[in-house]
Amino acid sequence: MAELNCLVCKSEIEVEERATTGEIVECDSCGQEHEVQVESHLVTIALAPEIEETWGE
Ligand SMILES: [Zn+2]
Repeated sequence: MAELNCLVCKSEIEVEERATTGEIVECDSCGQEHEVQVESHLVTIALAPEIEETWGE
C-alpha cells in the first residue's frame, strides 16, 4: 500500500501498489476523486478531471 494524502482535505488515502495509471481512488473523508499515476513504481495522485458524463444511474 502506498500512503498518499488527499489533495483537498489532506486525509490519508491508501492506494494499492498494484494500482495502475488512470485508476480512480476516492478520498474517504471528502469524497474527492483522484487519478492514480504510476511512474517507475512511484505512485502519485492528481485530482481527477470532472467529467460531465451520464453513466445512466
Ligand atoms: Zn479528502
